Amino acid sequence: MTQAWDKEVDILVVGSGAGGMLCALVGAQARADVLIGDKDRLWGGTSATSGGGIWIPGSDVARQAGFEDNLEDAFTYVRALSADNVSSANIRAFVDNAGPMLNWLMEHTPVRYMAFPYPDYHAENPGGSTAGFRTHLPLPLDGKALGKDIRTQRFASPAASLFGYLNWHFDETYALLYRSKGWLKMLIRNMAKYWFDWPFRFTSRKDRRLTLGNALTGGLRLALNERKVPLWLETPLTELVREGDKVTGVIVTRHGKPFRIRARKGVVLAAGGFDKNQSMRDQNAPLYPSALHSGGVSSNTGDTIRAGRAIGAGALNLQSAWAAPVFYVPGEDRGRLSTIERALPGCIMVNGSGERYLNEAASYHIVGQQMARRQKEYGDASPSWMIFDHRYRHLYAMGPLYPLIPDWAQPHAVRQILKKGRSIQELARDIGIDAAALSDTVARFNVGAAKGEDLQFHRGEATYDKMYGDPRNAPNPCLRAIDQGPFYAMPIYPGDIGTNGGLLTNAKGQVVGEGGEAISGLFAIGNNAASSMGESYPGAGVTIGPALTFGYIAARTMTGSNT
Ligand SMILES: Cc1cc2nc3c(=O)[nH]c(=O)nc-3n(C[C@H](O)[C@H](O)[C@H](O)COP(=O)(O)OP(=O)(O)OC[C@H]3O[C@@H](n4cnc5c(N)ncnc54)[C@H](O)[C@@H]3O)c2cc1C
Repeated sequence: MTQAWDKEVDILVVGSGAGGMLCALVGAQARADVLIGDKDRLWGGTSATSGGGIWIPGSDVARQAGFEDNLEDAFTYVRALSADNVSSANIRAFVDNAGPMLNWLMEHTPVRYMAFPYPDYHAENPGGSTAGFRTHLPLPLDGKALGKDIRTQRFASPAASLFGYLNWHFDETYALLYRSKGWLKMLIRNMAKYWFDWPFRFTSRKDRRLTLGNALTGGLRLALNERKVPLWLETPLTELVREGDKVTGVIVTRHGKPFRIRARKGVVLAAGGFDKNQSMRDQNAPLYPSALHSGGVSSNTGDTIRAGRAIGAGALNLQSAWAAPVFYVPGEDRGRLSTIERALPGCIMVNGSGERYLNEAASYHIVGQQMARRQKEYGDASPSWMIFDHRYRHLYAMGPLYPLIPDWAQPHAVRQILKKGRSIQELARDIGIDAAALSDTVARFNVGAAKGEDLQFHRGEATYDKMYGDPRNAPNPCLRAIDQGPFYAMPIYPGDIGTNGGLLTNAKGQVVGEGGEAISGLFAIGNNAASSMGESYPGAGVTIGPALTFGYIAARTMTGSNT
């Protein structure tokens, strides 16, 4: 006999990342009765901790900024980069629906995006955009209207906030990075705003000026609250209920007990990847072995991928991750993504033998993949070392190490990983690398850097490399000799910002069974599903852009709506 349900809704969304929340919202707008459940005591998932960037080809926002895109180019570009086992129909669905999704988001929520001249990661490939304008970034948003819900929103990642609490807008990154005119005034203004947010400041460290992923997820939550869509925290999905060929509901844990929820129109799995599940990594993604170094949130343990597999869902590319080089600060529960540091002049990355082995300025995914492969093959890339000189140290940030703040005033955990030597040889001895080898590497790099060339790895040549180089540094914004002691080293690891293989889905976001048939009533989006980017990373925002877009598609499929 079928067991009774404890609750019935039209749509149940599992996971409160950006894709899940947008899906819920589109469903609610079409008058469906929607519920979101999240396992964690905080909402927003990795999405809230992220840059909030979304890769949207052919958007109206970009057009208004003067960039005419071509969807056929975007399709060609992604199709060539994505794994062959990813269906063209899925890529097409993303490319065609991304722009309309963004319009919908901006029409129905307070979230606002600007198109940014952020070159694609493989901009020179056919269909790539050297001008950028496919990556869109959220504008800051006042989080006060969230009321008490702001207290349970995830903080921005320490890699995407200042001092671990102060949110910043992407535009402000450049002002801070180059200390360009007005940077100090801006910093003081933002800090004053933060510290004088009374009486809230006495009760929380949270910055209510929401930016990046906090702005995206905060704006989505505001819109959900307006439509009275409930979000249940500490409600993990444990099982899917399949009756015949249809998923009819789920079993979650609620207040410590099993709780059965029927979903009349569908269940949407939006519960991220298996970022923090060490045994799933060992079994499926040995190239990306470290759960600790993943930037994903601790609650993303692949539960819903396993639940899907248990009822016959197919899976794809489980060996894959959004690879990234990460700094690791002792005591933290995840790696800190390195996006900018590697491209700036006056630093190199070396392996345990003191050799450079890659173009440091390439996208984090490319560098992360190369580090992972190097580690697998030679075992000398985890950690690798960022080597930089006094000038770099005082001009730019290196992961958790901020410029202008003397070494002794850095947090204890940062001092633990920061190594310093009066000479390259002394530094090499301190980090256990052969001194002659590291000296040779630096000397060789310096000869080319002085002329603005890197004959070994061509750093600073590709359009994307220059994105984070220092434009004031000529002739190559990414290259300068490392020659002003003292010299510094900091360990950097092959990590990721989440896994990106998952349940197999079709162009409607429906989960597909082992036999190739869509499983009625079951959808998967975001890192819960196998990405339509395959094992590639075409440009900034290709994880959240598709998560939102397939959330939009799934909700419209379930409700049959055009709203
Ligand atoms: C520092 C940093 C910056 C980044 N910047 C960008 C960027 O600018 N653009 C971009 O595209 N990507 C970026 N990323 C990657 C991006 O954040 C993730 O790939 C994306 O947010 C994943 O979205 P998701 O919806 O799949 O999962 P998440 O946002 O992680 O949401 C999953 C949610 O599911 C919940 N959950 C897990 N298991 C269960 C369960 N059993 N039951 C119920 N709920 C469950 C989790 O608690 C979580 O809240 C960045 C990542 C990091 C770490």
